[in-house]
Amino acid sequence: MGAQQVREAFAELYGAEPEGVWSAPGRVNLIGEHTDYNDGFVMPFALPHMATAAVSRRTDGVLRLHSSDVEGGVVELSSDTLAPESDRTWTSYPAGVVWALREAGHPVTGADIHLSSTVPTGAGLSSSAALEVVIALALGDLYELGLPRWQLARLCQRAENVYVGAPTGIMDQTASACCEQGHALFLDTRDLSQRQIPFDLAAEGLRLLVVDTQVKHAHSGGEYGKRRAGCEKGAALLGVDALRDIPYADLDAALARLGDEDEVRRLVRHVVTEDQRVERVVALLESGDTRAIGPVLTEGHASLRDDFRVSCPELDLAVDTSLAAGALGARMTGGGFGGSAIVLTETADVDTLTKAIEESFATAAFTAPRVFEAVPSAGARRLI
Ligand code: ADP
Ligand code: MG
Repeated sequence: MGAQQVREAFAELYGAEPEGVWSAPGRVNLIGEHTDYNDGFVMPFALPHMATAAVSRRTDGVLRLHSSDVEGGVVELSSDTLAPESDRTWTSYPAGVVWALREAGHPVTGADIHLSSTVPTGAGLSSSAALEVVIALALGDLYELGLPRWQLARLCQRAENVYVGAPTGIMDQTASACCEQGHALFLDTRDLSQRQIPFDLAAEGLRLLVVDTQVKHAHSGGEYGKRRAGCEKGAALLGVDALRDIPYADLDAALARLGDEDEVRRLVRHVVTEDQRVERVVALLESGDTRAIGPVLTEGHASLRDDFRVSCPELDLAVDTSLAAGALGARMTGGGFGGSAIVLTETADVDTLTKAIEESFATAAFTAPRVFEAVPSAGARRLI
């Protein structure tokens, strides 16, 4: 939905024009998976899909929330009494942002909010971060809080971790808040330092496809927790704060020290090699050799499938079919156990690849995937 439509819908709903309209995008992670809770490197870029919110301030403490994507009308809360709850609903995300802002001492005295999003939910494309960041940016602007983007992202992460109760790293919110059009964001999740890396695919005759498998395997939450715990155990056994502290050059020695801890050894190998893959992709893009990142993406998939073990048959099929049909590289993206894969391809091969992926899913009797192009797009911004 466009900015004007969101503005008009707000006016109809609340009987007055909004003070402004903002947007924040979903994201795809190009490389650097399961590294963010190991203090490592990630490299997301923003999608053209985004959450758009029309917002006005209130002075009476009332928080009114409405999403055109959810049944059930306006939800009214009191911003003075917000507290993390156990039963999470969609309103927990925007309410959590207001809570996090107020907790940090910012005088947010209520708001009327109407939003609409084109980010598919639960596809590993971060519809939740888009929702949080658009609200944080809007309130930050209206209440003139002067918060830098990285800090907005931190507050949104806190909203999701503490208020919503979902353990996520800092990547999604930072991507939505800080990405720039035609770039991928090289982010060090330890100190939050970041660098915009030129990633203009179209100019090089390339495309990046997203294959949303439309599946979410039920055990994903518990498995995420197990991987996190395994990584923490690896760091403890190796005597470092986080696996990020194992240099790639020391990997073999570190693995040898882990003795018969087979599972931990696999997790450590993934995280350390994945950080190195992010650095290789950055170097290749900065030297202008975009095609050469393909094999690095594919290596990343093998590592997630065989060492970290977070892939699933649908993701493997999307990757294998793409490579067999001539893609330059492909890998699962996001946490795994469903969600989406990305495929780097020559522009000329897009139709052939899309057809091959769709046919392979039909043959395997999997749910039909949604295949679309991901153009590196702008981060969060004010539209009106
Ligand atoms: P992801 O971030 O990968 O899409 P999450 O489970 O983290 O998946 O977040 C999805 C949740 O975010 C939805 O279940 C819903 O509660 C909330 N959400 C996302 N987009 C919207 C929207 N447009 N309107 C209302 N709630 C939304
Ligand atoms: Mg999310």
